Amino acid sequence: MSGATPTEQISSWLASLDAVISRGDADGAAALFHETSYWRDLVSFTWNITTAESRVAIRDMIAGAVIPAKPSRWRLEGQGSLVEGAIEGWIRFETSIAQGYGHLRLIDGKAFTLLTTMTELKGFEEPKGAQREKGVEHGIYPGRKSWLERRREEEAELGISKQPYVVIVGGGQGAIALGARLKRLNVPTIIVEKNERPGDSWRKRYKSLCLHDVVWYDHLPYLPFPDHWPVYSPKDKIGDWLEMYTRVMELNYWASTECKSARFDAAKKEWVVEVMRNGKPITLRPKQLVLATGMSAVPNMPAVPGMETFKGDLHHSNRHPGPDAYGDKKAVVIGSNNSAHDIAAALWEVGADVTMIQRSSTHVSRSETLFELGTSKLYSEEAVNAGITTEKADLIFASIPYALLAQRQKPIYVKMRERDAAFYERLRKAGFLLDFGDDESGLFMKYVRRGSGYYIDVGASELVAEGKIKLKSGVEVSRIKEHTIAFSDGSELPADLIVFATGYGSMNGWAAELISQEVADRVGKCWGLGSNTRKDPGPWEGELRNMWKPTHQEALWFHGGNLHQSRHYSLYLALQLKARYEGMATPVYGLQEVHHLS
Ligand SMILES: Cc1cc2nc3c(=O)[nH]c(=O)nc-3n(C[C@H](O)[C@H](O)[C@H](O)COP(=O)(O)OP(=O)(O)OC[C@H]3O[C@@H](n4cnc5c(N)ncnc54)[C@H](O)[C@@H]3O)c2cc1C
Repeated sequence: MSGATPTEQISSWLASLDAVISRGDADGAAALFHETSYWRDLVSFTWNITTAESRVAIRDMIAGAVIPAKPSRWRLEGQGSLVEGAIEGWIRFETSIAQGYGHLRLIDGKAFTLLTTMTELKGFEEPKGAQREKGVEHGIYPGRKSWLERRREEEAELGISKQPYVVIVGGGQGAIALGARLKRLNVPTIIVEKNERPGDSWRKRYKSLCLHDVVWYDHLPYLPFPDHWPVYSPKDKIGDWLEMYTRVMELNYWASTECKSARFDAAKKEWVVEVMRNGKPITLRPKQLVLATGMSAVPNMPAVPGMETFKGDLHHSNRHPGPDAYGDKKAVVIGSNNSAHDIAAALWEVGADVTMIQRSSTHVSRSETLFELGTSKLYSEEAVNAGITTEKADLIFASIPYALLAQRQKPIYVKMRERDAAFYERLRKAGFLLDFGDDESGLFMKYVRRGSGYYIDVGASELVAEGKIKLKSGVEVSRIKEHTIAFSDGSELPADLIVFATGYGSMNGWAAELISQEVADRVGKCWGLGSNTRKDPGPWEGELRNMWKPTHQEALWFHGGNLHQSRHYSLYLALQLKARYEGMATPVYGLQEVHHLS
């Protein structure tokens, strides 16, 4: 297509795709892709979150999922453009039941990456804009109910005389974002949360915590933060925002309600969920169960000989009450990732004598550097001014298949090393074991591969470098005694407080706790890509395991992640639930195999 503009090239490619798919020609459609190419589908064809990697896999997906979905009206939205050697553009399409949106990259006339996403189900569009509710019925009607009366009625009935279709266990930001989408889609949903108020999962964290991510990355669906909101939100402010959001989005949020157990009644195809609401047992019978109990919430607590003999306070970081009671104490923090740094710094601030124990290397990115070299391209005031809305940013990010992400992240870390060389040198001199990921791809890849192994520096690293937070690295804890803690190198430290900031297990641990070990094993490990790097064993999966998509347990879903992921992927999970609520056929293509149990 020499001489054709980017817009013409994309339009012509889409017309070819439309033609071959319409005549059911999977081979012809696959021929429009490079041998090494990627088609990432978020629910629109596969009722799954999956990436076909290679022309062969794409051909199979076209035959197995795309052609049966009867796509049509493929078209370019706006103009195509040339970016870093690829012609790219935003696309729209339809299937027989849904509207779709996506992103295409062409190299030499053939597709290199294609992202397709479902945006709405035909006939079940969200009532927004011109379709919004009127809110008032003009006229005079006897027995008319006000909005408040109808709302109270819904609250009184749902879960008591009327069963919800979905129960979401855990009421943090993940559940709240998903709940808001389900509410707009009119899917009866109850969120159960053991804390007293929405937002408490943030409020209960240590008092100096501010979000590590910038405000542009953190918006909830539908209702962005006002534009004076601070760049890094203090955690109690986020707590209040979540509480306000829950209220104005009219979520059926059962606070002070703990889920005690759940079991799937296969005959009735429904869950039997036992909850304790304000001390009173209630049985809920939803058709779908979502665990939004926090991706990092099943604590890894090592069993150290002598632990039970310790006379001071000893707990996992998830139970750490904050520094206030430890101002004049000797504190030992085991671990060197985010929580360990934050806890150690907060303890140092109140005057505690703190030692951090580092067993193996950690990646550290300085917060400003990470923002400037990484996040700001898509999530910043400049990005917003350049027309990159949050939704666009989410989709641009989603358009890069995980298989290509590590390679694309590496240059950021080459620059980071150069820019912060003096900082890293100071840390190394203090004995800190640093890394940039097994393949030098840095922080975000560690996050998606293993959800750990890094610290976003908001000040604690300087304390380590200056020796204000003492550091013992390259050792393991070998024994705990009444007033001391002993290490593999033979040394021993006095301690009044020991905090194990040793991370968390996979989310299917929640299924083991609430449902059964058998179900936890059936669905397997959550999160991670199978990159065959530390704590992310292969084989390669291409997508995060089990997140926001069907699992090997019917009607069981996992939702979580950071604010960006909660916002973006809650859409696709909500659409999957809505389709089932409406009784639509949802044939799942490419359900992931289970390779690891935890
Ligand atoms: C220190 C720290 C800093 C972080 N900073 C950021 C950041 O800057 N940006 C970002 O995007 N992410 C950040 N994260 C990561 C992530 O966004 C948060 O952990 C976030 O709280 C996850 O939301 P969630 O809804 O998935 O889980 P959670 O907020 O953990 O919510 C899960 C909820 O489930 C409830 N629950 C558990 N079991 C039950 C049960 N049986 N019955 C009823 N309720 C139950 C819990 O009480 C809890 O409220 C940070 C995490 C930590 C620990």
